Amino acid sequence: MIPVRGYENQRVAVLGLGRSGLAAARALSAGGADVLCWDDGAEARARAEAEGLSLHDLSRADAFEGLALLVTSPGIPHLYPEPNRHIARAYEAGVPVDNDIGLFFRAFASAGWDDFETRPKVVAVTGSNGKSTTSALIHHILSEAGRPAQLAGNIGRGVLDIDPARDGEVVVLELSSYQTELARALTPDIAVFTNLSPDHLDRHGGRGGYFAAKRRLFAEGGPDRAVIGVDEIEGRFLADQMSEGPGDDRVIRVSAERKLAGPGWQVFARKGFLSEYRKGRQVASIDLRPMKGLPGRHNHQNACAAYAACRALGMGPRQIEAALASFAGLPHRSQLVTERGGVRFVNDSKATNVDSAAAALQAFDRIRWIAGGLGKEGGIGALAPHLGRVVKAYLIGHSARDFALQIGDMPHEICETMERAVARAAAEAEPGETVLLAPAAASFDQYPDFEARGDDFVARVRALDGAP
Ligand code: ADP
Repeated sequence: MIPVRGYENQRVAVLGLGRSGLAAARALSAGGADVLCWDDGAEARARAEAEGLSLHDLSRADAFEGLALLVTSPGIPHLYPEPNRHIARAYEAGVPVDNDIGLFFRAFASAGWDDFETRPKVVAVTGSNGKSTTSALIHHILSEAGRPAQLAGNIGRGVLDIDPARDGEVVVLELSSYQTELARALTPDIAVFTNLSPDHLDRHGGRGGYFAAKRRLFAEGGPDRAVIGVDEIEGRFLADQMSEGPGDDRVIRVSAERKLAGPGWQVFARKGFLSEYRKGRQVASIDLRPMKGLPGRHNHQNACAAYAACRALGMGPRQIEAALASFAGLPHRSQLVTERGGVRFVNDSKATNVDSAAAALQAFDRIRWIAGGLGKEGGIGALAPHLGRVVKAYLIGHSARDFALQIGDMPHEICETMERAVARAAAEAEPGETVLLAPAAASFDQYPDFEARGDDFVARVRALDGAP
């Protein structure tokens, strides 16, 4: 745990008692704050009480009197579409609002670091897609090279739950826009931006607000190095803003689409090869095609971003290459479940939006596509250019019929359930084809979360051979 100091004997309220809220409450208590917890849900309150934390009803008229800080959880909206009523009251009362990420950046460095040979570093990864994969990959590369590393944030442990840093350690944080938008301190040593596509727009008041939330990771803290995906205009704008001129190598530009030129520092992937250029000269080239845990263009983008971050940490190209080859991939993201009679079964349950589904649909040839669930605003019309490799769609969930209308005359079947979709796709698939779960929809109509949906797919695939 990272104790949060600076609030000794002051009253700090923690709103939202999920994983990050409870960790924040513990870390603030350990630092000597008088912590007062609240959650509108009775179950969460009971959990906190069972841990010995004190409750403080934030809906009471005098609830904000004498509070030094309100710490809130990423799941709670603070502006759009409607501000949470407690947070709105904090604004009225002039009580500063922060989250666990802001507390982490203020608390992480400690006096003990003076004795370290190498100061610990923080690498923070944001972007619309590929955050988890890129963060896990950076952590994997560091671990393979024997460097002390911890993975936290949206993936791994809550940021305040991690162990105090060791000599030379690197903490890799995956940060969502919900987290970067509110944190009052954001000072990573290396900041990584993977890409931008519309998501969570209701929470950020549109694409501009969404981008602004992510941009704070770069604008607020002034990282030593910024690794920036420049395949969208927002990334190009960010890279431009962060650099003093074309040769400024504090910015490493990353692309999975095209060769990047110029006197600066660039890492890009083309035709399955990663290239690094610096000051106009090629520094390294890596064949990504044999890397089993990183299939498809989107994963090549993640590989480039992770490679660039590790280069910025001083690692050598060959060391990184070896670790890319041993990366197994993350569950539910282009995860190869099995190969059966020449047919591959791939679980990309995390493809909850159109862009991530498009990425998965480009990573494989001849696809039996399992899609559907709780469709998102805007529909799946934007997937049309990416459906060329789909042999047939097997549609499930709430949006099955709606998706059927949107994909027009492509062969498809309404299957309703995962069980039927897997059975039908497996029965019809021919050797060389891939049965791909890439739903382009949320899972909440049929499952608690995308992990449960992916697990169900995996279980149904395994059951095809009669295995339990
Ligand atoms: P995040 O943490 O940003 O949600 P993940 O690594 O968990 O990212 O991947 C989320 C989904 O997006 C998965 O379906 C995955 O296959 C897809 N994906 C991964 N990397 C990228 C990328 N660079 N561009 C587009 N889609 C991606």
